Amino acid sequence: MQVYCNSLTEYSRLKTLEVKIGDLLLGNLHPVRVQTMTTTDTMDTIATVEQSIRCIEAGAELVRITAPSKREAENLLNIKTELRKRGYKTPLVADIHFTPNAAEIAARIVEKVRVNPGNYVDKKKFEQIEYTDAEYAEEIDRIRERFTPLIKICKEYGTAMRIGTNHGSLSDRIMSRYGDTPMGMVESAMEFLRIARNESYHNIVLSMKASNTLVMVEAYRLLVNTMFTEFDECYPLHLGVTEAGDGEDGRIKSAVGIGTLMEDGLGDTIRVSLTEDPEFEIPVCKDLVKRYENRTHQSHVKDLLNNISHKIKSTVNRQPSNEEQLAVNGERLTLPYNPFEYKRRHTHEVNNIGGMLVPIVVADFMQKEKIAADDLTAIGYAYDAATDKWNIGDSAADYIYTADKLLNFHLPGTLKNICNAKTWLQHQDVSDTVFPLFEGVEYLDVTEKSPRQNFIAIDVNKIDKNIKQKIFDLVATDVTAVLCLYSSNKNSMTDVRHAVIELMGHNLKTPVIICVESNCTSVDEQLIQFSAEAGALLLDGFGDGIWLMNDPKKMHNTKISGRNYIPVTNNHQFLNSTSFSILQATRTRISKTEYISCPSCGRTLFDLQETTAKIRAVTNHLKGVKIAIMGCIVNGPGEMADADFGYVGSGVGKITLYKGKDVIKRNVDSSIAVDELINLIKEYGAWVEPTAAADLIEVK
Ligand code: SF4
Repeated sequence: MQVYCNSLTEYSRLKTLEVKIGDLLLGNLHPVRVQTMTTTDTMDTIATVEQSIRCIEAGAELVRITAPSKREAENLLNIKTELRKRGYKTPLVADIHFTPNAAEIAARIVEKVRVNPGNYVDKKKFEQIEYTDAEYAEEIDRIRERFTPLIKICKEYGTAMRIGTNHGSLSDRIMSRYGDTPMGMVESAMEFLRIARNESYHNIVLSMKASNTLVMVEAYRLLVNTMFTEFDECYPLHLGVTEAGDGEDGRIKSAVGIGTLMEDGLGDTIRVSLTEDPEFEIPVCKDLVKRYENRTHQSHVKDLLNNISHKIKSTVNRQPSNEEQLAVNGERLTLPYNPFEYKRRHTHEVNNIGGMLVPIVVADFMQKEKIAADDLTAIGYAYDAATDKWNIGDSAADYIYTADKLLNFHLPGTLKNICNAKTWLQHQDVSDTVFPLFEGVEYLDVTEKSPRQNFIAIDVNKIDKNIKQKIFDLVATDVTAVLCLYSSNKNSMTDVRHAVIELMGHNLKTPVIICVESNCTSVDEQLIQFSAEAGALLLDGFGDGIWLMNDPKKMHNTKISGRNYIPVTNNHQFLNSTSFSILQATRTRISKTEYISCPSCGRTLFDLQETTAKIRAVTNHLKGVKIAIMGCIVNGPGEMADADFGYVGSGVGKITLYKGKDVIKRNVDSSIAVDELINLIKEYGAWVEPTAAADLIEVK
């Protein structure tokens, strides 16, 4: 066991314990199971059955249904009976919050129950309470007393259980001791898991969901490490990002969080939470799962990190991994980053890349034969010939790569040009807005280079080890060098991670642009590949830039799957917006408003999809503002994480508005609630008028 996965530098699926959910086996290297959750009223048996069937037909292997009270828990029997009558045997999961009674009923009916340790016994009133160790132990005894009856029922009926922690709904008790941290999330689940193990009940799956992908990834990693440290075995993992939103952004955020963990071989079942009809979640799940089917390591890169042998002790104030010893090229090195705690890799600044600067975006125009000023609209620069001005959007690329072409028009001041080194050499008069790209070995024989900035592309899979070392030696003393790292290997993320670890191991501060090329034939799969591979590296703190590439001719469909699809009419626009969305999802560069909207369920009190679209339409110019749109007052406030403003259903036709965790306006009529939300945003100084926010205008 290496830190939290089998290997940091090659793909290897983590073996977990086997769990039985009805006839479905999960964990223990069984295929990653795909699941979703209904959004209908659980008391509406036929609507719930029919929606479940749509999900099952789409490929769901588990269907979760909310059971907020005893009534709904009891009605699960009617739903299950009707589904079985119609020939559907898919296991059902009851989703429980706050109501042990409902859980105990549901556990006798359905194949699995999900409990949230943050609210199964504990309450959340956002109170800070100091506990002595004795008081804390007493609270654990209270949990044991309330939780054990459910375990006994699950054992008797062969029912499985998910202990599902949510970052946003940690109990006051956990918050008081651990704070709002990944370790708090882990401990919240571990308290329940220890009780279950004491009862010899092991049919358990765990999850650590958050809407912040950084928190979510760190929590899952810590959980695996903690389980191995404490039990020497690991229970299956249910992966998910909560309140991911809808459309392209929802898919990217989910793929960044879930994909990052799957790249490391974690995950036994996944759910992609979108604010869309649940059947539209399934194709996204399937595309994610497909990436790792039959995957073996294909790289020549040896797993040099496998020499890490000892485990890290699981302690609250851990300082894991940095002291781990590993061997690279025969040398003893220290694992130079902490996978449990985000810290951007320390690099020096080269022009506008590296250091503490936000990661840059490179727009790839390699395949475009002729490039005109109008083409830059797709990457955030709209040229107005009448006024001779550029309007620059919030998601405007920083560099444009033109391969062997040079542009015959002046670029806006915030956009610079990268071209191939040979072309650059022929046109040295291009001053300091055009910079050369050297292909790996080319850089070793360079006679002339830019005095300001030189890009060096390396395929870390194919490059000879000695040549790579020579390049690293050269860049060590070249303050103009920027490395563009990619891998032609299928497991490219781990290859690039390995290269960055080597750079760090040798204390090189050269900035790195993460390059990902996709040969997937559908837009959906490309979106997932880009998000998983680039996202994983960005969440490790690696990457001073992102450069996405594809061949549009190979793509056979032109839309994102699901109801709120975004047609892809311009490939440059697609790559540019995907790059910015990945940076936003990893919180490394904020360029737009962030929406934390719940996927809705049987508790939802208004049309979430319609309301989210309405709110998005009037607030999508508020760069950096986080707005939560939550379906119910029971879970919504707890789960809206670190949103700046909250719009929460509090009754039929009633909305409660929040500033952070504080209620500001209660039970506002829904017909005026969006306007009231805008007023609230204004009141707290976070509003800007759309025209002022839209564009920065630059005279050409
Ligand atoms: S916040 Fe949304 S998904 Fe969560 S319980 Fe409430 S309505 Fe359901």
